[in-house]
Amino acid sequence: MAKAQETILEIDLKALKHNFQYLKSKLQSNTKFLAVVKAFAYGNDANEIATYLQDLKVDYFAVAYATEGVALRNAGITAPILVLHTLAVNFDSIVENCLEPNLYNAKILKEFVAYAEGKKQNEYPIHLKFNTGLNRLGFWEDDVDYIIKQLQETKSIKVKSLFSHLAASEDLNERNFTMNQIHTFKSISKEFAEKIGYKPMLHMSNTSGILNYPEAHFDMVRSGIGLYGFGNSEEESKHLKPIASLKTVISQIHHIEKGESVGYNRAYKSDALFTKTATLPLGHADGIGRIYGKEKGYVTIHGKKAPIIGNVCMDMIMVNITDIDCKEGDEVIVFDGNTTSAETLAEAAGTISYELITGISQRVKRVIFK
Ligand SMILES: *Cc1c(COP(=O)(O)O)cnc(C)c1O
Repeated sequence: MAKAQETILEIDLKALKHNFQYLKSKLQSNTKFLAVVKAFAYGNDANEIATYLQDLKVDYFAVAYATEGVALRNAGITAPILVLHTLAVNFDSIVENCLEPNLYNAKILKEFVAYAEGKKQNEYPIHLKFNTGLNRLGFWEDDVDYIIKQLQETKSIKVKSLFSHLAASEDLNERNFTMNQIHTFKSISKEFAEKIGYKPMLHMSNTSGILNYPEAHFDMVRSGIGLYGFGNSEEESKHLKPIASLKTVISQIHHIEKGESVGYNRAYKSDALFTKTATLPLGHADGIGRIYGKEKGYVTIHGKKAPIIGNVCMDMIMVNITDIDCKEGDEVIVFDGNTTSAETLAEAAGTISYELITGISQRVKRVIFK
């Protein structure tokens, strides 16, 4: 990999393949795999990632919103795409692009049935989400009879899957709660299949569900963060490889004397006789938020940690390099798979890998390694 000369996000597709194969090794051979590629494949590059995974014969994709699915279709993705968060205003783009909507409450179900009938659809594939404890999106167990009634009155849609989402699959202290969710989902799907007379696919596991709850794999699993290299626990993360490295360069070095300050609001004040700082070309508009400032976050230069000092600016950060032998133009690692992982950096500032990686803005150039 070439040395960074500007801020880049390097994406290693071989690491993606490794993660995909590792996660698949946890499944029964007939369990399907859905790759969650919402939010630009967690900030990586949805088109590249989905194209690569489609070649590896992934069974399904999921996005959060319809526009993300449309982008995948335009990039040549032909595999089924589940839209996790369907909004009625997007029905046209969903049907025109053969996307499969999640219908999660009576209102959206009724509206979609009316829409599909208006468009003379026959058995248009849809997915039904049930709430088993996350209390975010989904029908309740009590809604089964209502749904069955709606379905029996139309031929315009057909239920391809029933699904639910685990609230705390990464937290083994919540094992009882999770087992209860699994139990509720089993009971809903049994009742549903008996009443409708066919068996939709069932799925409820995210990455941590794959790793911690084999009893929740059902017919398909849905993985996002694991594909991108994080397992939500130190033990599991060891088996996975972060696919993205955020790198940048030193634009300028300053020598600061005691009492001088660095950055907006003079948030860093030097109390040492001599401080050396480096200014880097990335800031909160690139996804390094202000929470990483004031020495919570750090970067790595020639193997040494350089804390981010003062306030993060929109387009720049300043780091303390007093003890680092480096010069303008040298490479800087923000996170990667070897020095500091996105998970470690996120935790240092009190957040999670998901937020850090999905926040790397579209301004940062993506460089793909195959
Ligand atoms: C985002 C999402 C996932 C993926 O979760 P990971 O923890 O990233 O594996 C799975 N299912 C649903 C419903 C989601 O919203």
